[in-house]
Amino acid sequence: MHDDAKSDQSAQSSDANPIYEMLWDCEYCGSKKLLGKTQRFCPECGAGQDPDRRYYPADNEKIAVHNHHYVGADKSCPACDHPNSGNSEYCTQCGSPMDAAKVVDTRTEQMRTEREQFARGENKKHSQKAASQAPSAPPPAPAKAKKRFWLAVIISLIAVLVFSLFFWTKEVAVEATGFSWQRLIYIDNYAPRSEGTWCNGLPRDAYQVKRERKIRDYKQIPDGQSCQTKRIDQGDGTYREQQVCKTKYRKEPIYDQYCRYKVDKWASHRSAIAKGKDKRPYWPKANLRCEGQRRVGCERERSRETAYLVQLIDTQSRKTYECELGEDIWERGQVGSYWQLKVSAVTGGERCGSLVPVAGY
Ligand SMILES: [Zn+2]
Ligand SMILES: [Zn+2]
Repeated sequence: MHDDAKSDQSAQSSDANPIYEMLWDCEYCGSKKLLGKTQRFCPECGAGQDPDRRYYPADNEKIAVHNHHYVGADKSCPACDHPNSGNSEYCTQCGSPMDAAKVVDTRTEQMRTEREQFARGENKKHSQKAASQAPSAPPPAPAKAKKRFWLAVIISLIAVLVFSLFFWTKEVAVEATGFSWQRLIYIDNYAPRSEGTWCNGLPRDAYQVKRERKIRDYKQIPDGQSCQTKRIDQGDGTYREQQVCKTKYRKEPIYDQYCRYKVDKWASHRSAIAKGKDKRPYWPKANLRCEGQRRVGCERERSRETAYLVQLIDTQSRKTYECELGEDIWERGQVGSYWQLKVSAVTGGERCGSLVPVAGY
């Protein structure tokens, strides 16, 4: 006996997992919808069943198998390819011993929601062959795959474009035509600010508080089940149906008190700027209002910023650029000196980080 063929899942037909006949079409005489388990030979011409041509029936053509004893998937006869029951010792078609037989291929599992029970017919291979009799169209799987393929192509093209925009550069020789500088002082002021927060976090010095009810979060509440019917090819000319259910959830809002209010605090207000086209930088006058005090209208310094700039011209194309330099190299730089600069090969934009003086400068 072939003990390996007797799998553990020797499922008995039950109401929970009903078992139905797979169907097959005779490729010799064209007889259609023959029964996978009961009709191992074509009743019209006597040809043997080809297990590769089995398919799932449409729902209105399901034929139940009662008291089905599962002995594992069928095995193909090594001599004639005829499918034989998993526990057979000799081929029912040609009589060869089934010792070296291989298990037949099964159809892929099928999942369908209850709603679209009527929407789809058999598996792809057969709905194409039996298009005239199939009551429904096959799923447009190849179209979907094609769409996905083109989407992938477009995304990679965009990635290449973005990559080249950023990283594909060429080197150009440039001449310094001028040096300039810029100095900034950023200034805060102390003033009423409009803010909002959940009322349990309201600042103590808030005033003009307005409260309102708002959705703060959502909770997930179990709300019934959504079920699908799964069809599993058992490989012996039958398939079983299984219900696969998942709990559905519905979102329910959680409300809370939201507060809009005013509060006096420091925040960014203005900046003071000084700039020049020479090499004598100085700080602008900040002219802070009531400096050192903390009341509405007073100002304080937040931060300072300096930029040392060089203006450049491409010695060949005469295209101009401006780049920021470190203070020491800016101080030593001369109008008329030559530099090397990398620019984007696509947009021509300068890469100031690459700017270096040419040897001998
Ligand atoms: Zn036939
Ligand atoms: Zn055989």
